[in-house]
Amino acid sequence: MVLHELGHTAGLPNCKIKSCLMRDAKKRNPFDQETGFCSNCKKFLKSKGWKLI
Ligand SMILES: [Zn+2]
Ligand SMILES: [Zn+2]
Repeated sequence: MVLHELGHTAGLPNCKIKSCLMRDAKKRNPFDQETGFCSNCKKFLKSKGWKLI
């Protein structure tokens, strides 16, 4: 997942939220559970200047 890697590039750690794109890929949940960044990650990325919805 490219957005996941971009999140790390921005300094975001892996996330515990199941539906979050920053969830640890090693947990092997189906990808369709990841609907986007969770509110915590969005907040972080916004503080880094990312333009998120
Ligand atoms: Zn990761
Ligand atoms: Zn998250």
